[in-house]
Amino acid sequence: MGRVGPLELLLERVALPIVSVLVALAWIGAIVGFVRFRARRRREREREAVGHRALEAPRPEVRVVEREKIVERQVLVMRCRFCNKLTPVDGTACAECGAHL
Ligand SMILES: [Zn+2]
Repeated sequence: MGRVGPLELLLERVALPIVSVLVALAWIGAIVGFVRFRARRRREREREAVGHRALEAPRPEVRVVEREKIVERQVLVMRCRFCNKLTPVDGTACAECGAHL
């Protein structure tokens, strides 16, 4: 058995732990990278699904809006002083009897 010099002792005491720490760090890095990669892929897939839903969604929404649109028309009317029936104000003659308003 040869004499164990201080350099060999240093290598044995320091280099080996450093190497094992580096290996552990490499493993952690690989695991973290894999987890991040999977999370990103899942997010991308979710975004794709949302995009598909967004592409399919607008048509029914528009239809619903059109169906729910209520056309309200107000016509001002007045009572004819000749026949006493209701006739639109904007007309020049009574809609019932034709009398000039
Ligand atoms: Zn009238």
